[in-house]
Amino acid sequence: MTGGIRHESGDSGKRDSECGAVASGPCTAVILDDGRVFLNDCGPGTVRACTKVFYAGCSELKPQNLTHVLLTHLHSDHTAGLADVILTPWVLERTRPLHVYGPEGTDEMCRDLLHAYRADIGFRTDGPEPIGPDSLQVIAHAVQEGVIYEQNGLCIRAVSVSHGTMESYAYLYESKEGKVLISGDTCPLDKVIEAAYGADILVHEAEYAGGLKERTEAWQAYHRAVHTLSYDLGSIMDKAKPALTITTHRILHLNYYGEEPVSADEVKRREELLLEEIRSVTDQPVVNGHDGDIFQIEKSSDRDPVIYLMP
Ligand SMILES: [Zn+2]
Ligand SMILES: [Zn+2]
Repeated sequence: MTGGIRHESGDSGKRDSECGAVASGPCTAVILDDGRVFLNDCGPGTVRACTKVFYAGCSELKPQNLTHVLLTHLHSDHTAGLADVILTPWVLERTRPLHVYGPEGTDEMCRDLLHAYRADIGFRTDGPEPIGPDSLQVIAHAVQEGVIYEQNGLCIRAVSVSHGTMESYAYLYESKEGKVLISGDTCPLDKVIEAAYGADILVHEAEYAGGLKERTEAWQAYHRAVHTLSYDLGSIMDKAKPALTITTHRILHLNYYGEEPVSADEVKRREELLLEEIRSVTDQPVVNGHDGDIFQIEKSSDRDPVIYLMP
């Protein structure tokens, strides 16, 4: 790491328009210096979250610019916003094709979503709305471990991870602007440590261990097999030494099933406890990412800036 990393809220509207990443529901966007945007997963709320950050001054995140989606896996919390990413920017006159990268089944999911919305698409293309069907192009790319994208100085590598029986990938971004790893959903893995070694930013899922203890044995076994506990993330950070780790997809084990409403204060308390758990293992820098956050790799003598946003 040769430069610093600046963090600011996406609502602030303050930023240089250079390079970056975003997250919602989950979704983390990587935005490059030249304006290219890559959405990593598109959970519910992705387009709205991007638009909010766009309104706050991040011009790259205008809906029409959402042309690349990389799905880490096909769980619903990572894909429920895909129809929105396919259709809303198209209705708003996106003229370029949408590229969707992901595991086996991605092509089918895209085709099935287009089929499910055939009444809407037919109305817009056959009626008075001046939208052409030709501009609704969705190009699915089946991902396998290795390089999946290499253009204009950016290399994206898929790293297969372990998430139960789901085919799942982490995505590693490397360019002269920086190195970033997005973990997706995974249990702790040595190969994630190798891929994230010396990264500028590691975006990793994290599970609050204190909350997991309150769950049944069966749920504890499940979560340990398919997700990453705070302590294990601390160990990954300690070995990989990324300049900054941003937690996302935090599993806090809030009591959604009981009678009592979950308060925002309790969410905050558990998020802080999760950070404490991580920091009990490592002194490497870590923050919790929240919707609208922007993380920018600052300019240094040999690197251009990169920004990461977490809506
Ligand atoms: Zn999952
Ligand atoms: Zn998930």
